[in-house]
Amino acid sequence: MESWLFEIDYCKNDVVETLNNLHEWMKPEKVKKGLMNLMDKAYIQREPFGVSLIIGAWNYPVQLTIMPLIGALAAGNCVVIKPSEVSPATADALEQVLPKYLDNDCIKVINGGVPETTSLLAERFDFIFYTGSTPVGRIVMQAATKYLTPVCLELGGKSPVYVDRNCDLTTVANRILWGKTCNSGQICIAPDYVMCQKDIQDELVSKLKESIAMFYPEGIEKSSDYCRIVNDRHFQRLKKLVDGSKNIAIRGPMDEKDNFMGPVVVTDVTPDDITMQDEIFGPVLPIMPVKDADAAVDYINNREKPLAMYVFSNNKETVENFANNTSSGSLCVNDVLMQAGLSSLPFGGVGNSGTGNYHGKFSFETFSHRRSVLLKGLKMETVNGLRYPPFTDKKLSTITWLATKKLKKVGLSSFLPYFIFGTIIAVVIKMIGLDKILSSFK
Ligand code: NAD
Repeated sequence: MESWLFEIDYCKNDVVETLNNLHEWMKPEKVKKGLMNLMDKAYIQREPFGVSLIIGAWNYPVQLTIMPLIGALAAGNCVVIKPSEVSPATADALEQVLPKYLDNDCIKVINGGVPETTSLLAERFDFIFYTGSTPVGRIVMQAATKYLTPVCLELGGKSPVYVDRNCDLTTVANRILWGKTCNSGQICIAPDYVMCQKDIQDELVSKLKESIAMFYPEGIEKSSDYCRIVNDRHFQRLKKLVDGSKNIAIRGPMDEKDNFMGPVVVTDVTPDDITMQDEIFGPVLPIMPVKDADAAVDYINNREKPLAMYVFSNNKETVENFANNTSSGSLCVNDVLMQAGLSSLPFGGVGNSGTGNYHGKFSFETFSHRRSVLLKGLKMETVNGLRYPPFTDKKLSTITWLATKKLKKVGLSSFLPYFIFGTIIAVVIKMIGLDKILSSFK
């Protein structure tokens, strides 16, 4: 079900949305004109960058290569795709399937690991779209500087969750657990760690236990709905986090031979703990008690900007506190991951969690250059000639009058024109009579 929803269906829906709307997205976008350009045409034209390089990551090996591909092709680019070598079966499938069904003059799939990606990055591309870790994002951006190639970097980081005391913790636990066990927590926007007040921590843990029992009634080891850690290296990395943690409140079963790791919840975590250093990217959930929402906001603001942020609260002020006083790629209130399901929202990070965004129309925009176009005629030389020397005070004052922008008035006076217009209409109706006006339209 997870593969179908997050890999296959996700991409199919994006294709359908793109096919349904591309003719609109492609249209030249008319822009406002000033007095100087009243007789001209001005618009924004979307044009392809040229040849784009898409470097995919392993955790959703179909989605993370096909979704950018949809935007790149829709915008008119040719594409070189480099799937992740960490998910070799999907990488092979993409190499075999894409050339079979898509235009080989436009698309090439190149498989390989770090040396191949390094070679690709030494080539000149017109756009680079990279999904993966922040450290490799830096390598990609550095390579891009050689030819000043524009980039979109879809990176990661620690996505925090704040749980307020006034919430229904059963629902909160279900939603957090779902986000942390989908793909075994190997999701860039997975809830990375939870902050809450100390006095609700124990109840949250017992609700998480109930959620585990509800999701996996036969026991998680026997469930066919729980996926494995991608490889031994990542399993060992996660195991180190568990082994290095003190207060393990929930210890899911582990099977090293199978890269199987059940959900692990660690309580009373402090900022120095091993689980609070790097992105977890697995089914380990640290809970860090904080004094209040302000302390959580401060903690977030003292660190790199997260890819996603989650706030569970029924209190409008608490939600606004996070919305107005923090920054992140996305913010989802009272749920996790679901913001990524809405293609009308851009998907991407900010600062260390990435630059640029995609999904739906945003993919088309990301892979398009916005070219400014001004179409003028060769007439109207009296007005156009105002800018030519010899300069005079009269020319200057005329151009200034035509080109100067006026600050919009705010406050009651800005409604004055509407008020005068409304009064005139009311007086006219009163004098002529509404019946007469309406009958004149018949
Ligand atoms: P990965 O190992 O699959 O690497 C991603 C790509 O980078 C691969 O194609 C790989 O070949 C290439 N690569 C790796 N090392 C390289 C190097 N030294 N030089 C050049 N290319 C190199 O994936 P990963 O980095 O382990 O992915 C996990 C990270 O990706 C997490 O941080 C996660 O949050 C992030 N991620 C982000 C998104 C997003 O949309 N923002 C989605 C998925 C994953």
